Amino acid sequence: MRRMMIAGNWKLNKTIGEATAFADVLAKRLVSHDLRDVVIAPPYTALAAVSQSLSGTHIAVSAQDVFYETEGAFTGAISAAMIKDAGCTYTLVGHSERRLYFAETVETTVKRLVAAKAVGLIPIFCVGETLQERESGRMHDVLRSQLSALATLDFSANAVVVAYEPVWAIGTGVVASESQAQEAHAFVRGILAPMGLSETRILYGGSVKPSNAAGLLAQSDIDGLLVGGASLNITDFLKIIAAGQPGSYEDWFDLQFP
Ligand code: PEP
Repeated sequence: MRRMMIAGNWKLNKTIGEATAFADVLAKRLVSHDLRDVVIAPPYTALAAVSQSLSGTHIAVSAQDVFYETEGAFTGAISAAMIKDAGCTYTLVGHSERRLYFAETVETTVKRLVAAKAVGLIPIFCVGETLQERESGRMHDVLRSQLSALATLDFSANAVVVAYEPVWAIGTGVVASESQAQEAHAFVRGILAPMGLSETRILYGGSVKPSNAAGLLAQSDIDGLLVGGASLNITDFLKIIAAGQPGSYEDWFDLQFP
């Protein structure tokens, strides 16, 4: 049984104070609920403080990227061991913004996956096609190529999470339809299966909002959501965590906290 996961990617947002204030409220509201695995990915500067705020809760913390070397003259880089030391359980790898702005390639994502695995960090490995790749019929080849990074790494199914994030849906307000997302997820699962990863969780990401979360989560191969913009707002994020559960959002969370 694949347990649902809702992960929030905060990108380049929130100071340490803002991040810990959010984490404190999230922890209070989720305290009596263990509905789904909940993960937040603050910027590096806030990782240790947020991990501290969330210690003793079931909310986990993720980095947004990991460098592949362990130490040395790599100015600005952060290693997997440093991320672990800051209290993280997860790290994103291969987010499309890293591929676009920071020259991430299949080769460098492999190195990052290896580095994360070496210290027991669980990668949330992001894959997805651009609009041009989809419209020119290359979507399946692109996904196959990106996922090939996992082929020789011998992850166990629970030691990695995959996020299908169509680039055209990230931060654009254009969400993949439920059937587009399900079709892509089924394809991804078909690629993962021969690697022994058929039970690996596959999250959908790209313009997820409270209004579309339940429909996406109802798809048989969607095991959770990776949420960017909407994870910055506590009410929206809580609504997404509760999406599709019986009863209302108000029933699930203790809303007495500000
Ligand atoms: C993301 O950055 O992983 C993402 C899915 O962003 P958004 O939800 O804002 O589209």
